[in-house]
Amino acid sequence: MEDIIIGSHVSFNKNEQLLGSVKEAISYGANTFMFYTGAPQNTLRNKIDDNLTKEAYELMKKNNINPNNVIVHAPYIINLANDNDNYNFAINFLKEEINRVEKLGMKIIVLHPGSHVKLGPIRGINNIITALNTVLTKETKVIIALETMAGKGTELGSNFEELKQIIDGVELKDKVGVCLDTCHINDAGYDLTNFDNVLVQFDEIIGLSKLVCLHINDSKNLISSHKDRHENIGFGTLGFENIIKVIYHEKLKGLPKILETPYITNNDEENKKLYPPYKFEIAMIRKKQYDLELIDSVRNAYK
Ligand code: FE
Ligand code: FE
Ligand code: ZN
Repeated sequence: MEDIIIGSHVSFNKNEQLLGSVKEAISYGANTFMFYTGAPQNTLRNKIDDNLTKEAYELMKKNNINPNNVIVHAPYIINLANDNDNYNFAINFLKEEINRVEKLGMKIIVLHPGSHVKLGPIRGINNIITALNTVLTKETKVIIALETMAGKGTELGSNFEELKQIIDGVELKDKVGVCLDTCHINDAGYDLTNFDNVLVQFDEIIGLSKLVCLHINDSKNLISSHKDRHENIGFGTLGFENIIKVIYHEKLKGLPKILETPYITNNDEENKKLYPPYKFEIAMIRKKQYDLELIDSVRNAYK
């Protein structure tokens, strides 16, 4: 039986860079992972250290992590939908990010399509298309995976039609794909209790061949809430069984699945700490068995 490809968001710090990310992923029992090349909310980036990258690849090999399944997430402050004063900066930053990711050897960059901020969806989508056509060249080795969004504020890409419009406008179509986020599509209005039907829609509108990775999150909110607040697997409105159906879906075999669920607090107001839930969530997913005690298990393991 083919193993599922499951991992989580991990950190990428300036001392250990990719090597640290690999070590963290292994500590969770993951066989893939996702990272930001620096803080997600800013564009400050350190120089890539090739020696650390080399060590990271050796460690991945030893642990059966295929680098082609490892995902990079572009910083979420990049907004390609609004051609204001920051538009050129965002385009240039994305170009540099692609160079960094190619230097690290990863193949997929997840990108939030952007928010139109009063420009309206038509202009917003055109701005995204122009930006992508500026950034992508024949030499580009990575795929930009546009993430399905919750539709918070003026976010674009909260339905398959908008993502399709963007892809249609991109000249180098083999260099764009989609990353499907389960929390986001729920919040955007797709019914995860009938995921087969969601996939049929995705296939009809965008085409399943365009799907390159998934973000696996439960949601704190009901369908169509447009909120975007992630919840731990089994503890939100999607529920454990519906999420398991996504992860093990026949049509999604071989696609990397990444957890971005929230850290668990230690419940100590005086000395607040946050613990990663991923080791326990991944174990629960592999067993296909919902663990009601997950939160306590995480707290006990790290205290
Ligand atoms: Fe994202
Ligand atoms: Fe996501
Ligand atoms: Zn989100």
